[in-house]
Amino acid sequence: MKPLRYAVIGGGINGLAVARQLLLDDPDVRVTVFEKEEAVAQHQSSHNSGVVHAGLYYEPGGLKATLCRRGVELVKRYCEQNALPYDECGKVVVALGEEELPRLEAIYRKALANGVPDVEMIDAARLREIEPNCVGLRALYSPRTAIVSYGQIAQRMAQEIEERGGTIRLNASVRRVIERGDQVHIELQSGEMHPEAFDSAIACSGLQSDRLAQQSGDAATPRIVPFFGQYYVIDEAYKSHVKGLIYPVPDPRFPFLGVHFTKRIDGQMTIGPNAFISLGRENYHGDRFSLRDIADYLSYPGFWKFASRNVPATLRELKTVVSERIFVREAARYVPALAEVGVTPAVRGIRAQAMESNGRLVDDFVIRQSSRVTHIRNAPSPGATSSLAIGEHIVRNLIRRD
Ligand SMILES: Cc1cc2nc3c(=O)[nH]c(=O)nc-3n(C[C@H](O)[C@H](O)[C@H](O)COP(=O)(O)OP(=O)(O)OC[C@H]3O[C@@H](n4cnc5c(N)ncnc54)[C@H](O)[C@@H]3O)c2cc1C
Repeated sequence: MKPLRYAVIGGGINGLAVARQLLLDDPDVRVTVFEKEEAVAQHQSSHNSGVVHAGLYYEPGGLKATLCRRGVELVKRYCEQNALPYDECGKVVVALGEEELPRLEAIYRKALANGVPDVEMIDAARLREIEPNCVGLRALYSPRTAIVSYGQIAQRMAQEIEERGGTIRLNASVRRVIERGDQVHIELQSGEMHPEAFDSAIACSGLQSDRLAQQSGDAATPRIVPFFGQYYVIDEAYKSHVKGLIYPVPDPRFPFLGVHFTKRIDGQMTIGPNAFISLGRENYHGDRFSLRDIADYLSYPGFWKFASRNVPATLRELKTVVSERIFVREAARYVPALAEVGVTPAVRGIRAQAMESNGRLVDDFVIRQSSRVTHIRNAPSPGATSSLAIGEHIVRNLIRRD
């Protein structure tokens, strides 16, 4: 029998995880990864907080909850097996006011329902033992939350794919995936058709996922609306003021987790990310505006519905965008000793966040499938934590379920 041939579009951590899983499960298959950049993992997979989320916030039973929990296990094992750094530095989610306590309790219940190990609710005294400079009424402590470099993990996966006989085609931007009879063809942006036909294709194209899906005949919605997240690095002399990860209790009026302290695997301590609409899907330094990207969301009715419902969030985030000081003070509510700390801007991350036409941000992961083509339509955080589990899920439950 001829070996099965798979095309994977997108060499971010999810595409690489899918390609690796295909080769692991059947060493005879032929796998080609198409990546538009000159190297793998140049977008979300190397511009994120580097947190291995333990599974605190996600709706029990949903894909995020299930794949995040499995993902933690797999990422930890992958780092161990490949001598990549994995630091279980722990995380506290801190309530500053009484009104936040019911929401903190709700997160605790979800964490228990999701099977997150060793989580506990702690009082202010215990919080001080864990994070001596942090203030708060109560906190949820997750000692198993960890940090890694997803960029490094992705690089290692790319190497492994090639070692296992897979092919990674760089500088290969795919315009559309064409399903014809029992074959799938890949048309490149250059207009050229890839010479080889495939039995199946999996599109994991992050910030471009809605466009590639629509051009390939999948539904136009949900659409990707890019939200950037700015980070600042704390001056070296102050970084030991925070030991691990300090997060606020998410405010249900605001769609993202809120500015937090994140220890990095290279030892730096960062504050961020905030969340604000980006003037380009790949505008990492604030100087690569894209009129096409801006026009895309301005012409999307969902965006205006979202914007009209999120005026307070927009104003709060805008303040942190225009003023570095406000940004730092927002975080320093949890660590007052850092209110005046010096910071250096770091490169932004840009979230590929899917939005429905009614303006709702899609919360769970969305993976759509026709007979031979699978599209990841929404894989925001904890998408990197979950990547190896997303790969496993797509390969074992969707593609090869027969
Ligand atoms: C600010 C921020 C912080 C985050 N923090 C965390 C965190 O702490 N923990 C966590 O688990 N998750 C986090 N995430 C989420 C995580 O980074 C993403 O879920 C994950 O990286 C998604 O991986 P991906 O492979 O789907 O997408 P990407 O990494 O964006 O990769 C998509 C790839 O597809 C390629 N591509 C696109 N279009 C085409 C095309 N037409 N042809 C060929 N190639 C194409 C791109 O060049 C890119 O390489 C964060 C994200 C952001 C933005």
